[in-house]
Amino acid sequence: MKLILLGAPGAGKGTQAEFIQAALKVPVISTGNLLREAVAQGTSLGLKAKEYMTSGRLVPDELIIALVREKLASHDCEHGVILDGFPRTVAQAEALDTFAAPDAVVSLEVPDEVIVKRMTGRRTCPKCGSTYHVEHNPPQVEGVCDKCGEKLGIRHDDDPEVVLQRLEIYHDQTEPVKHHYDALNKLQQVEGVGTVEEIRQRIFRKLGLEL
Ligand code: AMP
Repeated sequence: MKLILLGAPGAGKGTQAEFIQAALKVPVISTGNLLREAVAQGTSLGLKAKEYMTSGRLVPDELIIALVREKLASHDCEHGVILDGFPRTVAQAEALDTFAAPDAVVSLEVPDEVIVKRMTGRRTCPKCGSTYHVEHNPPQVEGVCDKCGEKLGIRHDDDPEVVLQRLEIYHDQTEPVKHHYDALNKLQQVEGVGTVEEIRQRIFRKLGLEL
């Protein structure tokens, strides 16, 4: 199954992508993680993307479309893929339709005020990209990634002013992507407020996955 996870920054896409990945046994492609890796490695893509990312703006469509296209071709996506953080504009969605149209699109619906609260507690692993929340989804050992043992950090773009800017961009540029898929009868909206487990169950029910 080719699945897209839509939702505002901090809606819980990354956390839920991990559960769906375990159930479907297909890779997750997170454009945010790929870009952060590129920035850390100082590749030409990373150098171009860095300024947009630190200010909370979107990286230009042509760069991100080329990145996803390349990853989809090189990953083992024969049995499907979960896209987290892509597409974020209608132009990206239209491009994706030409090379890997999704079977289903899940949009996690979370009010802005909840997002802002969540972002302040978010902790991210700089090595493997796993995300945690100090209250709602803490790691087993405080400040340490469960998966790879790396020290957790706070992302630059999780600063409050940058979060507000990212939310504005989300409403402006990414919400129209929902209408794009709704018109194609592919959109499933899921309430993204509640415990991680409650939200997981809502998504699994919508996708017909075993709870
Ligand atoms: P994320 O981790 O998904 O919130 O992404 C972090 C940042 O990477 C975003 O704020 C954007 O600057 C950039 N980014 C990630 N995915 C995309 C995309 N599909 N289109 C444009 N920029 C993106």
